[in-house]
Amino acid sequence: MRILVVEDEPAIADFLERGLIAEGYEVRRAADGPDGERQALSGDVDLVLLDAMLPGRDGLEVLAGIRATKPVLPVIMLTARRAVSDRVAGLDEGATDYVTKPFAFEELLARMRAHLRGPEPAGKTTLSGGDISLDLVSREVRRDGNQIRLTGREFELLAHLLRYPGQVLSREDIRAAVWGFDFDPGTNVVDVYIRYLRRKLALPGRPAPIETVRSVGYRFRAGR
Ligand code: CA
Repeated sequence: MRILVVEDEPAIADFLERGLIAEGYEVRRAADGPDGERQALSGDVDLVLLDAMLPGRDGLEVLAGIRATKPVLPVIMLTARRAVSDRVAGLDEGATDYVTKPFAFEELLARMRAHLRGPEPAGKTTLSGGDISLDLVSREVRRDGNQIRLTGREFELLAHLLRYPGQVLSREDIRAAVWGFDFDPGTNVVDVYIRYLRRKLALPGRPAPIETVRSVGYRFRAGR
């Protein structure tokens, strides 16, 4: 699956490229509107991440250009603008979906997967580890069959941990993936949410699924 990232801010484009490559996607980049539109129309792109504010031609103009010849190519707009009117304008122009900056990478991935058609098996919408399962589409989480209610952030945090079972994830990686790359690094938000998550996932007689790795971060136990 080849993703075109149309983004003029190098830090954000780098962040997206690294994350997407780690997830197994191929990445193309464009740093302005005209180049983005040209590459989107080139024919070998499966999904476009399109920044709304771009030099040369803004995101909505680029989107209109893409839609004129590619009515079904998935295009997810990235925007700092929270106004409902902008969102409506984007969807009117044919954006497939919208993510507001600063966005969490997990949320973006979930939306991308929802819109990417093709060879990815339908089963990919569920993540599981041991007796815990998480459905990325229905957003249902279960442990040993019992439904667990999580907030949006708790859900994204658990999804991120489940994606890398047995691997140690640093607080910085977790923070970037779940809260966004520019979230204030001075906070202990990761530790606080790990605590929430542990409390909700606890089941008598069952092992704690999330391990603390001293001075590094956290790890989801692989297997049972
Ligand atoms: Ca921009």
